[in-house]
Amino acid sequence: MTKIPSLPESSPSRPSLDRALSELHRGLGSRLLTNQDSCLPYQTDDTGILGCASAVVLARDAQDIRLCLEVCDKHSVPITSRAGGTGRTGGAVPINGGVVIATHLLDQVVDFDTKSGTIVVGPGIVLNDLWRVVEAEGWFYPPDPNSSDSCRLGGNLAENAAGPRAFKYGPTRDYVLGMDTYLPGGTHFYSGRRTRKGVTGYDTTSLLVGSEGTLAAFGDITLRLIPRPEQVMTLLALFANVTAAAAAVDAIFEARLLPRCIEFLDELTLKLMRDAGNAIDVGANCLLLIEVDGDEDACLKQAERIGELCDDSGARSVVVAQTENQRAQLWSARRQMSHAVRKFAKNKISEDVVVPRQQLITLIDYVRELGETHQITALCYGHAGDGNLHVNFLWDDDEQKSRVDVATARLFEKTILLGGTLSGEHGIGITKAAYLSLEQSAAQVELQRRLKSAFDPRGIMNPGKIFPRAGHGAC
Ligand SMILES: Cc1cc2nc3c(=O)[nH]c(=O)nc-3n(C[C@H](O)[C@H](O)[C@H](O)COP(=O)(O)OP(=O)(O)OC[C@H]3O[C@@H](n4cnc5c(N)ncnc54)[C@H](O)[C@@H]3O)c2cc1C
Repeated sequence: MTKIPSLPESSPSRPSLDRALSELHRGLGSRLLTNQDSCLPYQTDDTGILGCASAVVLARDAQDIRLCLEVCDKHSVPITSRAGGTGRTGGAVPINGGVVIATHLLDQVVDFDTKSGTIVVGPGIVLNDLWRVVEAEGWFYPPDPNSSDSCRLGGNLAENAAGPRAFKYGPTRDYVLGMDTYLPGGTHFYSGRRTRKGVTGYDTTSLLVGSEGTLAAFGDITLRLIPRPEQVMTLLALFANVTAAAAAVDAIFEARLLPRCIEFLDELTLKLMRDAGNAIDVGANCLLLIEVDGDEDACLKQAERIGELCDDSGARSVVVAQTENQRAQLWSARRQMSHAVRKFAKNKISEDVVVPRQQLITLIDYVRELGETHQITALCYGHAGDGNLHVNFLWDDDEQKSRVDVATARLFEKTILLGGTLSGEHGIGITKAAYLSLEQSAAQVELQRRLKSAFDPRGIMNPGKIFPRAGHGAC
Protein backbone atom coordinates (compact mmCIF):
# COMPACT_ATOMS: atom_id res chain seq x y z
CA MET A 1 0.00 0.00 0.00
CA THR A 2 1.13 3.55 -0.68
CA LYS A 3 0.96 5.90 2.25
CA ILE A 4 0.05 9.42 1.23
CA PRO A 5 1.09 12.51 3.23
CA SER A 6 -1.65 14.63 4.73
CA LEU A 7 -2.23 18.37 4.63
CA PRO A 8 -1.08 19.82 7.95
CA GLU A 9 -3.23 22.93 7.55
CA SER A 10 -6.43 20.87 7.64
CA SER A 11 -5.43 18.16 10.10
CA PRO A 12 -7.22 18.56 13.44
CA SER A 13 -5.29 19.61 16.53
CA ARG A 14 -4.97 16.86 19.17
CA PRO A 15 -7.16 18.63 21.79
CA SER A 16 -9.92 19.29 19.18
CA LEU A 17 -9.79 15.69 18.07
CA ASP A 18 -9.97 14.39 21.64
CA ARG A 19 -12.98 16.58 22.42
CA ALA A 20 -14.74 15.45 19.22
CA LEU A 21 -14.05 11.76 19.88
CA SER A 22 -15.28 11.98 23.42
CA GLU A 23 -18.57 13.65 22.29
CA LEU A 24 -18.98 11.06 19.53
CA HIS A 25 -18.32 8.25 21.97
CA ARG A 26 -21.05 9.58 24.28
CA GLY A 27 -23.57 9.49 21.41
CA LEU A 28 -22.45 6.34 19.61
CA GLY A 29 -20.88 4.00 22.14
CA SER A 30 -19.54 0.87 20.43
CA ARG A 31 -20.49 2.27 17.00
CA LEU A 32 -17.39 4.46 17.29
CA LEU A 33 -14.21 2.53 16.47
CA THR A 34 -10.95 4.07 17.67
CA ASN A 35 -8.68 1.05 17.85
CA GLN A 36 -6.21 1.39 14.96
CA ASP A 37 -6.53 -2.26 13.90
CA SER A 38 -10.31 -1.94 13.68
CA CYS A 39 -10.02 1.33 11.74
CA LEU A 40 -7.49 -0.01 9.22
CA PRO A 41 -9.96 -1.60 6.73
CA TYR A 42 -11.72 1.79 6.44
CA GLN A 43 -8.58 3.69 5.46
CA THR A 44 -8.05 2.54 1.88
CA ASP A 45 -9.88 1.75 -1.35
CA ASP A 46 -9.12 0.10 -4.71
CA THR A 47 -6.16 2.44 -5.28
CA GLY A 48 -4.31 0.77 -2.38
CA ILE A 49 -3.47 4.21 -0.97
CA LEU A 50 -3.51 4.05 2.81
CA GLY A 51 -4.87 7.02 4.75
CA CYS A 52 -5.11 7.57 8.49
CA ALA A 53 -8.36 7.94 10.39
CA SER A 54 -8.48 8.48 14.15
CA ALA A 55 -11.93 6.92 14.34
CA VAL A 56 -14.64 5.22 12.29
CA VAL A 57 -18.36 5.78 12.84
CA LEU A 58 -20.43 2.72 11.96
CA ALA A 59 -23.55 4.69 11.04
CA ARG A 60 -26.73 2.78 11.84
CA ASP A 61 -29.23 5.53 11.10
CA ALA A 62 -29.59 9.12 9.95
CA GLN A 63 -29.10 10.37 13.49
CA ASP A 64 -25.57 8.89 13.55
CA ILE A 65 -24.66 10.77 10.35
CA ARG A 66 -26.13 13.98 11.66
CA LEU A 67 -24.30 13.69 15.00
CA CYS A 68 -21.00 13.06 13.26
CA LEU A 69 -21.40 16.13 11.04
CA GLU A 70 -22.41 18.29 13.98
CA VAL A 71 -19.58 17.25 16.29
CA CYS A 72 -16.83 17.18 13.66
CA ASP A 73 -17.79 20.62 12.36
CA LYS A 74 -17.78 22.07 15.88
CA HIS A 75 -14.19 20.85 16.41
CA SER A 76 -12.95 21.23 12.80
CA VAL A 77 -12.30 17.52 12.43
CA PRO A 78 -12.17 16.15 8.84
CA ILE A 79 -14.86 13.70 7.73
CA THR A 80 -14.54 11.11 4.98
CA SER A 81 -17.74 9.33 3.96
CA ARG A 82 -17.35 5.74 2.88
CA ALA A 83 -19.62 3.29 1.07
CA GLY A 84 -18.12 0.13 -0.51
CA GLY A 85 -14.48 1.29 -0.67
CA THR A 86 -14.11 0.27 -4.34
CA GLY A 87 -13.22 3.76 -5.55
CA ARG A 88 -10.36 4.08 -8.03
CA THR A 89 -9.18 7.61 -7.27
CA GLY A 90 -8.85 7.48 -3.48
CA GLY A 91 -12.12 9.29 -2.72
CA ALA A 92 -12.86 7.26 0.42
CA VAL A 93 -9.28 7.39 1.72
CA PRO A 94 -9.01 9.68 4.78
CA ILE A 95 -5.78 11.53 4.04
CA ASN A 96 -6.11 14.17 6.76
CA GLY A 97 -6.91 12.01 9.73
CA GLY A 98 -10.24 12.71 11.40
CA VAL A 99 -13.29 10.49 11.20
CA VAL A 100 -14.61 8.07 8.58
CA ILE A 101 -18.40 7.64 8.37
CA ALA A 102 -18.94 4.06 7.22
CA THR A 103 -22.41 3.66 5.72
CA HIS A 104 -22.49 -0.06 4.86
CA LEU A 105 -25.04 -0.81 7.60
CA LEU A 106 -27.52 1.59 5.96
CA ASP A 107 -28.35 -0.96 3.27
CA GLN A 108 -32.14 -1.13 3.49
CA VAL A 109 -34.85 -0.61 0.91
CA VAL A 110 -36.79 2.12 2.71
CA ASP A 111 -39.70 2.40 0.29
CA PHE A 112 -40.48 0.90 -3.12
CA ASP A 113 -43.40 2.26 -5.13
CA THR A 114 -43.75 -0.65 -7.53
CA LYS A 115 -46.61 1.09 -9.36
CA SER A 116 -44.76 4.24 -10.34
CA GLY A 117 -41.20 2.89 -10.37
CA THR A 118 -39.51 4.96 -7.67
CA ILE A 119 -37.46 3.51 -4.87
CA VAL A 120 -35.89 4.92 -1.72
CA VAL A 121 -32.78 3.11 -0.47
CA GLY A 122 -30.13 3.59 2.17
CA PRO A 123 -26.72 4.82 0.92
CA GLY A 124 -25.13 1.50 1.94
CA ILE A 125 -27.15 -0.80 -0.30
CA VAL A 126 -24.93 -2.89 -2.60
CA LEU A 127 -25.74 -2.24 -6.26
CA ASN A 128 -26.36 -5.93 -7.08
CA ASP A 129 -28.91 -6.11 -4.24
CA LEU A 130 -30.73 -3.07 -5.59
CA TRP A 131 -30.89 -4.67 -9.05
CA ARG A 132 -32.33 -7.88 -7.60
CA VAL A 133 -35.09 -6.00 -5.79
CA VAL A 134 -36.16 -3.79 -8.69
CA GLU A 135 -35.89 -6.43 -11.43
CA ALA A 136 -38.09 -8.82 -9.46
CA GLU A 137 -40.87 -6.24 -9.94
CA GLY A 138 -40.24 -5.68 -13.66
CA TRP A 139 -38.22 -2.45 -13.20
CA PHE A 140 -34.72 -1.59 -14.29
CA TYR A 141 -31.95 0.55 -12.76
CA PRO A 142 -29.44 0.88 -15.63
CA PRO A 143 -26.16 2.21 -14.08
CA ASP A 144 -23.78 -0.79 -14.06
CA PRO A 145 -20.26 -0.21 -12.80
CA ASN A 146 -18.30 -3.45 -13.02
CA SER A 147 -17.88 -3.39 -9.24
CA SER A 148 -21.63 -4.01 -8.78
CA ASP A 149 -21.07 -6.88 -6.35
CA SER A 150 -19.38 -4.61 -3.81
CA CYS A 151 -19.93 -0.91 -4.57
CA ARG A 152 -22.76 0.83 -2.74
CA LEU A 153 -25.25 3.47 -3.81
CA GLY A 154 -23.78 6.32 -1.71
CA GLY A 155 -20.44 5.80 -3.47
CA ASN A 156 -22.15 5.49 -6.86
CA LEU A 157 -23.84 8.86 -6.32
CA ALA A 158 -20.71 10.56 -5.04
CA GLU A 159 -18.75 9.38 -8.11
CA ASN A 160 -21.64 9.59 -10.61
CA ALA A 161 -20.75 5.99 -11.45
CA ALA A 162 -21.48 4.55 -14.86
CA GLY A 163 -20.68 1.43 -16.81
CA PRO A 164 -21.20 -0.24 -20.18
CA ARG A 165 -24.94 0.53 -20.29
CA ALA A 166 -24.36 4.28 -19.89
CA PHE A 167 -23.98 4.47 -23.67
CA LYS A 168 -27.73 4.08 -24.06
CA TYR A 169 -29.05 4.88 -20.59
CA GLY A 170 -26.70 7.48 -19.07
CA PRO A 171 -24.88 7.52 -15.71
CA THR A 172 -26.14 7.45 -12.11
CA ARG A 173 -27.05 11.16 -12.14
CA ASP A 174 -29.85 10.51 -14.64
CA TYR A 175 -31.68 8.29 -12.13
CA VAL A 176 -31.34 10.30 -8.91
CA LEU A 177 -34.48 12.20 -7.98
CA GLY A 178 -33.11 13.32 -4.64
CA MET A 179 -31.37 12.44 -1.42
CA ASP A 180 -31.33 13.20 2.27
CA THR A 181 -28.45 15.63 2.59
CA TYR A 182 -26.42 16.32 5.75
CA LEU A 183 -24.24 19.41 5.86
CA PRO A 184 -21.34 20.10 8.21
CA GLY A 185 -22.96 21.31 11.45
CA GLY A 186 -25.68 18.67 11.09
CA THR A 187 -28.20 20.68 9.02
CA HIS A 188 -30.43 18.26 7.14
CA PHE A 189 -32.50 18.83 4.01
CA TYR A 190 -33.93 16.74 1.21
CA SER A 191 -32.23 17.80 -1.99
CA GLY A 192 -34.31 17.26 -5.10
CA ARG A 193 -37.82 16.07 -5.63
CA ARG A 194 -39.91 12.95 -5.52
CA THR A 195 -41.66 13.60 -8.82
CA ARG A 196 -40.21 12.64 -12.19
CA LYS A 197 -40.10 16.30 -13.35
CA GLY A 198 -39.28 19.52 -11.51
CA VAL A 199 -37.46 22.81 -12.00
CA THR A 200 -37.70 24.47 -8.60
CA GLY A 201 -34.60 26.48 -7.72
CA TYR A 202 -31.03 25.46 -8.46
CA ASP A 203 -30.40 21.81 -9.20
CA THR A 204 -28.42 21.05 -6.04
CA THR A 205 -29.05 17.35 -6.57
CA SER A 206 -27.07 17.30 -9.81
CA LEU A 207 -24.29 19.20 -8.07
CA LEU A 208 -24.18 16.77 -5.17
CA VAL A 209 -24.06 13.76 -7.50
CA GLY A 210 -20.39 13.51 -8.46
CA SER A 211 -19.22 15.73 -5.57
CA GLU A 212 -17.02 12.93 -4.16
CA GLY A 213 -18.03 13.46 -0.54
CA THR A 214 -16.60 17.00 -0.52
CA LEU A 215 -19.87 18.91 0.00
CA ALA A 216 -22.21 16.83 2.15
CA ALA A 217 -23.00 13.30 3.34
CA PHE A 218 -25.94 11.45 1.81
CA GLY A 219 -28.55 9.54 3.74
CA ASP A 220 -31.52 7.89 1.99
CA ILE A 221 -31.54 8.16 -1.79
CA THR A 222 -34.60 8.36 -4.06
CA LEU A 223 -34.17 6.82 -7.52
CA ARG A 224 -36.32 6.69 -10.60
CA LEU A 225 -36.54 3.37 -12.40
CA ILE A 226 -37.47 2.48 -15.95
CA PRO A 227 -39.31 -0.60 -17.22
CA ARG A 228 -37.07 -3.62 -17.50
CA PRO A 229 -36.36 -4.36 -21.17
CA GLU A 230 -38.18 -7.46 -22.32
CA GLN A 231 -35.13 -9.06 -23.84
CA VAL A 232 -31.39 -8.58 -24.16
CA MET A 233 -29.05 -10.01 -26.78
CA THR A 234 -25.28 -9.96 -26.67
CA LEU A 235 -22.90 -10.11 -29.62
CA LEU A 236 -19.21 -10.82 -29.43
CA ALA A 237 -17.20 -9.73 -32.46
CA LEU A 238 -13.51 -10.42 -32.92
CA PHE A 239 -11.32 -8.34 -35.21
CA ALA A 240 -7.75 -8.64 -36.47
CA ASN A 241 -7.05 -5.02 -35.57
CA VAL A 242 -8.45 -1.90 -33.90
CA THR A 243 -9.04 -0.14 -37.23
CA ALA A 244 -11.55 -2.77 -38.32
CA ALA A 245 -13.30 -2.66 -34.94
CA ALA A 246 -13.49 1.15 -35.10
CA ALA A 247 -15.00 0.90 -38.58
CA ALA A 248 -17.69 -1.39 -37.16
CA VAL A 249 -18.47 1.10 -34.38
CA ASP A 250 -18.68 3.92 -36.94
CA ALA A 251 -21.00 1.84 -39.08
CA ILE A 252 -23.30 1.19 -36.09
CA PHE A 253 -23.55 4.94 -35.48
CA GLU A 254 -24.11 5.70 -39.15
CA ALA A 255 -26.94 3.16 -39.23
CA ARG A 256 -28.57 5.11 -36.33
CA LEU A 257 -28.59 2.03 -34.14
CA LEU A 258 -28.42 2.39 -30.37
CA PRO A 259 -27.09 -0.73 -28.66
CA ARG A 260 -27.10 -0.52 -24.90
CA CYS A 261 -23.34 -1.01 -24.80
CA ILE A 262 -20.29 -1.37 -27.02
CA GLU A 263 -17.36 -2.64 -24.98
CA PHE A 264 -13.87 -2.69 -26.46
CA LEU A 265 -10.77 -4.76 -25.47
CA ASP A 266 -7.34 -4.22 -27.01
CA GLU A 267 -4.67 -6.70 -28.09
CA LEU A 268 -2.73 -6.94 -24.84
CA THR A 269 -5.90 -7.22 -22.76
CA LEU A 270 -6.98 -10.16 -24.95
CA LYS A 271 -3.58 -11.77 -24.44
CA LEU A 272 -3.87 -11.48 -20.65
CA MET A 273 -7.35 -12.96 -20.80
CA ARG A 274 -6.06 -15.89 -22.88
CA ASP A 275 -3.29 -16.34 -20.29
CA ALA A 276 -6.01 -16.41 -17.61
CA GLY A 277 -7.61 -19.41 -19.37
CA ASN A 278 -10.19 -17.82 -21.69
CA ALA A 279 -10.34 -19.47 -25.11
CA ILE A 280 -10.09 -16.51 -27.49
CA ASP A 281 -9.09 -16.86 -31.18
CA VAL A 282 -5.32 -16.16 -31.32
CA GLY A 283 -5.70 -14.22 -34.56
CA ALA A 284 -7.96 -11.69 -32.87
CA ASN A 285 -6.34 -8.49 -31.65
CA CYS A 286 -9.45 -6.57 -30.74
CA LEU A 287 -12.84 -7.54 -29.33
CA LEU A 288 -16.20 -5.78 -29.25
CA LEU A 289 -18.91 -6.91 -26.88
CA ILE A 290 -22.16 -5.35 -28.03
CA GLU A 291 -25.53 -5.61 -26.36
CA VAL A 292 -29.01 -4.69 -27.59
CA ASP A 293 -32.27 -4.68 -25.68
CA GLY A 294 -35.98 -4.12 -26.22
CA ASP A 295 -38.82 -6.38 -27.31
CA GLU A 296 -37.96 -9.63 -29.05
CA ASP A 297 -38.47 -8.33 -32.60
CA ALA A 298 -36.45 -5.18 -32.01
CA CYS A 299 -33.63 -7.18 -30.43
CA LEU A 300 -33.48 -9.63 -33.30
CA LYS A 301 -33.50 -6.89 -35.92
CA GLN A 302 -30.79 -4.86 -34.18
CA ALA A 303 -28.59 -7.89 -33.49
CA GLU A 304 -28.86 -9.06 -37.08
CA ARG A 305 -28.01 -5.64 -38.50
CA ILE A 306 -25.09 -5.12 -36.10
CA GLY A 307 -23.77 -8.58 -36.96
CA GLU A 308 -23.85 -7.67 -40.67
CA LEU A 309 -22.10 -4.36 -40.03
CA CYS A 310 -19.34 -6.11 -38.06
CA ASP A 311 -18.94 -8.66 -40.87
CA ASP A 312 -18.81 -5.88 -43.47
CA SER A 313 -16.11 -4.15 -41.42
CA GLY A 314 -13.95 -7.26 -41.52
CA ALA A 315 -14.78 -9.10 -38.29
CA ARG A 316 -13.07 -12.50 -38.04
CA SER A 317 -16.13 -13.86 -36.26
CA VAL A 318 -19.39 -12.70 -34.68
CA VAL A 319 -21.34 -14.81 -32.18
CA VAL A 320 -24.72 -13.94 -30.70
CA ALA A 321 -25.91 -15.06 -27.27
CA GLN A 322 -29.65 -15.28 -26.88
CA THR A 323 -30.12 -17.12 -23.61
CA GLU A 324 -29.18 -15.81 -20.17
CA ASN A 325 -26.66 -18.61 -19.82
CA GLN A 326 -24.90 -17.79 -23.10
CA ARG A 327 -24.90 -14.10 -22.22
CA ALA A 328 -23.38 -14.79 -18.82
CA GLN A 329 -20.58 -16.77 -20.52
CA LEU A 330 -19.76 -13.90 -22.87
CA TRP A 331 -19.76 -11.40 -20.02
CA SER A 332 -17.88 -13.49 -17.50
CA ALA A 333 -14.57 -13.00 -19.30
CA ARG A 334 -15.19 -9.22 -19.45
CA ARG A 335 -16.03 -9.10 -15.75
CA GLN A 336 -12.96 -11.13 -14.75
CA MET A 337 -10.74 -8.93 -16.85
CA SER A 338 -9.87 -6.42 -14.16
CA HIS A 339 -8.62 -9.26 -11.94
CA ALA A 340 -6.74 -10.94 -14.83
CA VAL A 341 -4.99 -7.64 -15.56
CA ARG A 342 -4.18 -7.09 -11.88
CA LYS A 343 -2.48 -10.49 -11.68
CA PHE A 344 -0.11 -9.59 -14.50
CA ALA A 345 2.06 -7.18 -12.48
CA LYS A 346 2.65 -6.10 -8.91
CA ASN A 347 1.34 -2.60 -9.54
CA LYS A 348 -1.43 -1.22 -11.68
CA ILE A 349 -2.92 2.20 -12.38
CA SER A 350 -6.26 2.34 -14.14
CA GLU A 351 -7.21 5.69 -15.68
CA ASP A 352 -10.59 6.34 -17.25
CA VAL A 353 -10.17 9.16 -19.72
CA VAL A 354 -12.79 10.05 -22.33
CA VAL A 355 -12.28 11.49 -25.81
CA PRO A 356 -14.75 12.29 -28.60
CA ARG A 357 -15.47 8.88 -30.12
CA GLN A 358 -13.80 9.77 -33.43
CA GLN A 359 -10.51 10.33 -31.55
CA LEU A 360 -10.51 6.92 -29.89
CA ILE A 361 -8.11 5.29 -32.35
CA THR A 362 -5.66 8.20 -32.03
CA LEU A 363 -5.69 7.77 -28.25
CA ILE A 364 -5.33 3.99 -28.43
CA ASP A 365 -2.28 4.39 -30.72
CA TYR A 366 -0.90 6.98 -28.33
CA VAL A 367 -1.25 4.61 -25.35
CA ARG A 368 0.80 2.00 -27.24
CA GLU A 369 3.42 4.66 -27.99
CA LEU A 370 3.53 5.65 -24.31
CA GLY A 371 4.19 2.04 -23.33
CA GLU A 372 7.06 1.77 -25.82
CA THR A 373 8.62 5.15 -25.02
CA HIS A 374 8.50 4.71 -21.25
CA GLN A 375 9.09 0.93 -21.29
CA ILE A 376 6.06 0.03 -19.24
CA THR A 377 3.17 -2.27 -19.99
CA ALA A 378 0.23 -0.24 -21.28
CA LEU A 379 -3.12 -1.68 -22.26
CA CYS A 380 -6.60 -0.36 -22.73
CA TYR A 381 -10.20 -1.41 -22.82
CA GLY A 382 -13.38 0.55 -22.37
CA HIS A 383 -16.70 1.78 -23.57
CA ALA A 384 -16.20 2.37 -27.29
CA GLY A 385 -19.58 4.02 -27.81
CA ASP A 386 -18.80 6.72 -25.22
CA GLY A 387 -15.13 7.20 -26.13
CA ASN A 388 -14.37 6.19 -22.51
CA LEU A 389 -11.04 4.40 -22.41
CA HIS A 390 -9.69 2.58 -19.35
CA VAL A 391 -5.97 2.91 -19.74
CA ASN A 392 -3.92 0.60 -17.51
CA PHE A 393 -0.23 1.00 -16.77
CA LEU A 394 1.34 -2.07 -15.17
CA TRP A 395 4.74 -2.37 -13.54
CA ASP A 396 6.72 -4.51 -11.13
CA ASP A 397 9.82 -2.56 -10.13
CA ASP A 398 9.53 0.54 -7.98
CA GLU A 399 12.13 2.26 -10.17
CA GLN A 400 9.56 2.17 -13.01
CA LYS A 401 7.09 4.29 -11.02
CA SER A 402 8.56 7.64 -12.08
CA ARG A 403 8.15 6.59 -15.73
CA VAL A 404 4.54 5.59 -15.05
CA ASP A 405 3.96 9.06 -13.58
CA VAL A 406 5.35 10.72 -16.71
CA ALA A 407 3.28 8.45 -18.96
CA THR A 408 0.15 9.26 -16.92
CA ALA A 409 0.77 13.00 -17.22
CA ARG A 410 1.34 12.64 -21.01
CA LEU A 411 -1.89 10.61 -21.28
CA PHE A 412 -3.90 13.34 -19.57
CA GLU A 413 -2.32 16.06 -21.72
CA LYS A 414 -3.09 14.16 -24.91
CA THR A 415 -6.66 13.49 -23.76
CA ILE A 416 -7.28 17.20 -23.25
CA LEU A 417 -5.60 18.02 -26.56
CA LEU A 418 -8.00 15.64 -28.30
CA GLY A 419 -10.97 17.48 -26.75
CA GLY A 420 -11.53 14.92 -23.99
CA THR A 421 -11.98 14.84 -20.24
CA LEU A 422 -9.89 13.40 -17.37
CA SER A 423 -12.54 11.09 -15.98
CA GLY A 424 -15.62 9.42 -17.40
CA GLU A 425 -16.54 7.47 -14.27
CA HIS A 426 -13.97 7.31 -11.50
CA GLY A 427 -13.86 10.96 -10.47
CA ILE A 428 -10.82 13.05 -9.57
CA GLY A 429 -10.25 12.10 -5.91
CA ILE A 430 -6.62 12.27 -4.81
CA THR A 431 -4.97 10.70 -7.82
CA LYS A 432 -6.04 13.21 -10.47
CA ALA A 433 -6.33 16.35 -8.36
CA ALA A 434 -2.98 17.69 -9.57
CA TYR A 435 -4.29 17.62 -13.16
CA LEU A 436 -7.58 19.47 -12.64
CA SER A 437 -6.27 22.70 -14.16
CA LEU A 438 -5.27 20.87 -17.35
CA GLU A 439 -8.97 20.62 -18.13
CA GLN A 440 -10.65 23.42 -16.22
CA SER A 441 -9.92 27.14 -16.28
CA ALA A 442 -8.76 28.97 -13.14
CA ALA A 443 -12.15 30.74 -13.08
CA GLN A 444 -14.04 27.45 -13.05
CA VAL A 445 -11.83 25.92 -10.36
CA GLU A 446 -12.23 29.07 -8.24
CA LEU A 447 -16.03 28.98 -8.62
CA GLN A 448 -16.03 25.36 -7.46
CA ARG A 449 -13.87 26.25 -4.45
CA ARG A 450 -16.41 28.97 -3.56
CA LEU A 451 -19.27 26.51 -3.95
CA LYS A 452 -17.45 24.11 -1.66
CA SER A 453 -17.00 26.75 0.99
CA ALA A 454 -20.72 27.62 0.81
CA PHE A 455 -21.52 24.00 1.71
CA ASP A 456 -18.53 23.43 3.96
CA PRO A 457 -17.06 26.69 5.34
CA ARG A 458 -14.48 24.97 7.56
CA GLY A 459 -13.31 22.61 4.82
CA ILE A 460 -13.91 19.43 6.82
CA MET A 461 -15.68 17.40 4.10
CA ASN A 462 -13.20 15.01 2.52
CA PRO A 463 -10.32 17.52 2.39
CA GLY A 464 -7.55 16.88 -0.14
CA LYS A 465 -9.92 15.56 -2.84
CA ILE A 466 -10.68 17.03 -6.28
CA PHE A 467 -8.74 20.28 -5.77
CA PRO A 468 -4.94 20.41 -6.17
CA ARG A 469 -3.18 19.93 -2.83
CA ALA A 470 -1.50 22.88 -1.16
CA GLY A 471 1.11 21.28 1.11
CA HIS A 472 2.60 18.11 2.57
CA GLY A 473 2.77 16.61 6.01
CA ALA A 474 2.39 13.26 7.67
CA CYS A 475 -0.62 11.30 8.80
C1 LIG B 1 -13.26 -4.04 -10.17
C2 LIG B 1 -13.76 -2.64 -10.23
C3 LIG B 1 -14.51 -2.24 -11.33
C4 LIG B 1 -15.00 -0.94 -11.41
N1 LIG B 1 -15.76 -0.60 -12.49
C5 LIG B 1 -16.33 0.62 -12.54
C6 LIG B 1 -17.17 0.98 -13.63
O1 LIG B 1 -17.40 0.21 -14.54
N2 LIG B 1 -17.73 2.20 -13.61
C7 LIG B 1 -17.52 3.09 -12.59
O2 LIG B 1 -18.10 4.17 -12.61
N3 LIG B 1 -16.70 2.79 -11.57
C8 LIG B 1 -16.10 1.59 -11.50
N4 LIG B 1 -15.28 1.27 -10.46
C9 LIG B 1 -14.99 2.29 -9.42
C10 LIG B 1 -15.95 2.26 -8.21
O3 LIG B 1 -16.55 1.00 -8.05
C11 LIG B 1 -17.01 3.35 -8.33
O4 LIG B 1 -16.42 4.63 -8.29
C12 LIG B 1 -18.10 3.27 -7.25
O5 LIG B 1 -19.10 4.20 -7.53
C13 LIG B 1 -17.55 3.53 -5.85
O6 LIG B 1 -18.55 3.10 -4.95
P1 LIG B 1 -18.16 2.67 -3.47
O7 LIG B 1 -19.42 2.28 -2.81
O8 LIG B 1 -17.10 1.68 -3.45
O9 LIG B 1 -17.65 4.07 -2.90
P2 LIG B 1 -16.38 4.42 -2.02
O10 LIG B 1 -15.13 4.00 -2.68
O11 LIG B 1 -16.59 3.97 -0.63
O12 LIG B 1 -16.47 6.00 -2.04
C14 LIG B 1 -16.39 6.72 -3.24
C15 LIG B 1 -16.64 8.20 -2.96
O13 LIG B 1 -17.96 8.37 -2.49
C16 LIG B 1 -17.97 9.15 -1.29
N5 LIG B 1 -19.11 8.68 -0.51
C17 LIG B 1 -19.38 7.40 -0.14
N6 LIG B 1 -20.53 7.35 0.57
C18 LIG B 1 -20.99 8.63 0.66
C19 LIG B 1 -22.12 9.23 1.29
N7 LIG B 1 -23.02 8.53 1.98
N8 LIG B 1 -22.25 10.57 1.18
C20 LIG B 1 -21.36 11.32 0.49
N9 LIG B 1 -20.28 10.81 -0.12
C21 LIG B 1 -20.10 9.47 -0.03
C22 LIG B 1 -16.61 8.87 -0.67
O14 LIG B 1 -16.23 9.88 0.23
C23 LIG B 1 -15.74 8.80 -1.89
O15 LIG B 1 -15.36 10.09 -2.28
C24 LIG B 1 -14.73 -0.01 -10.36
C25 LIG B 1 -13.98 -0.40 -9.26
C26 LIG B 1 -13.49 -1.69 -9.19
C27 LIG B 1 -12.68 -2.10 -7.99
